[in-house]
Amino acid sequence: MDGAIGLKGCRKIRGSQIRHLLEAKDFFLFDCDGVIWHGEKAITGAPNVVNTLIKQGKGVFFVTNNSTRPRENYVHKFCRLGFTNVNQEQIFSSSYCSAIYLRDVAKVQGKVFVIGCEGIRNELREANVPYLEEVDEPDATIYNCALPTDVKAVLVGHDDQFTFLKLAKASCFLKDPDCLFLATDNDPWHPLKDGRILPGSGCLTAALEVATGRKATIIGKPSRFMFECISSQFTGVDPAQCLMVGDRLETDMLFGSNCGLETMLTLTGISQMEEAEEYSRSEQSNEQCFVPDYVVDTIADFLPAFEELD
Ligand SMILES: [Mg+2]
Repeated sequence: MDGAIGLKGCRKIRGSQIRHLLEAKDFFLFDCDGVIWHGEKAITGAPNVVNTLIKQGKGVFFVTNNSTRPRENYVHKFCRLGFTNVNQEQIFSSSYCSAIYLRDVAKVQGKVFVIGCEGIRNELREANVPYLEEVDEPDATIYNCALPTDVKAVLVGHDDQFTFLKLAKASCFLKDPDCLFLATDNDPWHPLKDGRILPGSGCLTAALEVATGRKATIIGKPSRFMFECISSQFTGVDPAQCLMVGDRLETDMLFGSNCGLETMLTLTGISQMEEAEEYSRSEQSNEQCFVPDYVVDTIADFLPAFEELD
């Protein structure tokens, strides 16, 4: 049997195959880090690809689990890196979508306790969702700190100032079964230079899940909510007309699969072809959701296809 069955998905495409795909799709959802940029450096050719798709009238959206920046900050970053004409409405970050969820879906009555960066608080402010302003005395501990009674949600995101006291307070708030438990995303880690890694919000959420025996509702990829935000704000976003482009199989490809979108893995980020092929060969059916439909080395591979289209 081995080798007799072709791999599902994982189709490496180039040239005219990319051109046909670009013609067939009206909406493109891009993950950011590892797909269009690496930190503060645009991936070569990516600004040209995004600018051209927008110029052609395609719907272009950015879906990022990075909760540390407010959307207006992203607009500046896009501009700085050469992506012209990207506006705030095209950016669906996990902090923005968390604020929308709290306001429109959960309709939270009370304050939100935030474990996270300023990007989250900024989006909550924009959405008029009240959150707890933290003003701990330097010697505050879980034994003596104030615990307000009007906290009705705990939201966990990336927090480089995470402390034991925050963990302990959040655990206390979540003893109330009516207090919602949300996480911007469940990413385990992010790559840094020189082989270092940055632990992701998933590990902070995991700590709180262990302490409370509860499971967080995940807002970002791979959960469907970001796509629901897009389709509620833009008309005619048909999953069959969308392509999800990402670099991480377990979040981006799974997100696309969960939302019924075709998926493309770009090899400029975290996941590599071998991992995709391994999932493709897996006999565990749930692992097929990690398999991309298409694979390109970089989204700059779109550029020759545009030239043929002109
Ligand atoms: Mg990425």
